[in-house]
Amino acid sequence: DAKRQGRNTWQWYCGDAIDNVAEHVVIRRELQEAIQAEQFEAYYQPIVDAVSGDIRSVETLIRWHHPTKGLVSPGVFMPIAEQTGQIIAIGRWVLDRACHDIAALNAGRERPLAVAVNISPMQFQRTGFMNEIKAALHASGLPPALLELEVTEGTLMTNTEQAVALLNEVRNLGISVALDDFGTGFSSLSYLRDLPISKVKLDILFIRGISKNAKNAAIVQGVITMAHHLNLAIVAEGIETREEQMDLQQRQCDLLQGYFFSKPLPFDVLKSLPPTLTPP
Ligand code: C2E
Ligand code: MG
Ligand code: MG
Ligand code: MG
Repeated sequence: DAKRQGRNTWQWYCGDAIDNVAEHVVIRRELQEAIQAEQFEAYYQPIVDAVSGDIRSVETLIRWHHPTKGLVSPGVFMPIAEQTGQIIAIGRWVLDRACHDIAALNAGRERPLAVAVNISPMQFQRTGFMNEIKAALHASGLPPALLELEVTEGTLMTNTEQAVALLNEVRNLGISVALDDFGTGFSSLSYLRDLPISKVKLDILFIRGISKNAKNAAIVQGVITMAHHLNLAIVAEGIETREEQMDLQQRQCDLLQGYFFSKPLPFDVLKSLPPTLTPP
């Protein structure tokens, strides 16, 4: 009935788990169309130097322009795409798009930007992933040093030995790896010790309300200090207020990302940003 229908629609947009099988089937079919009809768009969110506000890199965040439902969040469709395997085609598209866009952007910039691309577990574990990366770099002309892969603890957990081998291969190409959503998964400190990564992204969960939550502040400070002793750069995700920005800066966090500086932007808007973001 209409009420149920309404509730399900609301759930869709809020990114709750989709437990309705019929709905799942619909999204699966629509994703197939989306791949063919190129309904996806790559958005880019700046990541800035915590001290200068200079944009150092951008994170690629996929958006789905659904023909009738409007913008659908990746938190909703990416888990389904992962289950169905459609993530492979979507992931390849994002990688190509991101390398292409940022190589083009850099052609007109004095100081080149790096681009981060989120990599899902299935993408990462698939044979041929390295070839996809090489192909994207080759086709776009983006130097490997300007590409960064964001992986989560969950991605690395399944087969850690294989993951280490792949990460080493990635690093040998000159590509860097960031550990995303740090602290939310089955965080293991041995990952920080053993994996060839260069950056840790502290999850928004610990940033929100940092000034009023002494426990969050303690965790954030501890992770920043630890990362630095391990020679890892650290990024704070989800900076929304000046208070948070100043707090993280004082705590020597290297890089900041969040709505306070900029929301994720379509490529055309990204192109018109100044090199330094110093919000009012
Ligand atoms: P993520 O990689 O941890 O990305 C950060 C998320 O935080 C993004 O949500 C971003 O829009 C949001 N965010 C950034 N700044 C703020 C802020 O100040 N406040 C708040 N509340 N949120 C902020 P988004 O774009 O909805 O993406 C959600 C997740 O979907 C991503 O989390 C990532 O896991 C996944 N995702 C997005 N694009 C891709 C993609 O191309 N490939 C893969 N495999 N996953 C993707
Ligand atoms: Mg990410
Ligand atoms: Mg994250
Ligand atoms: Mg996240």
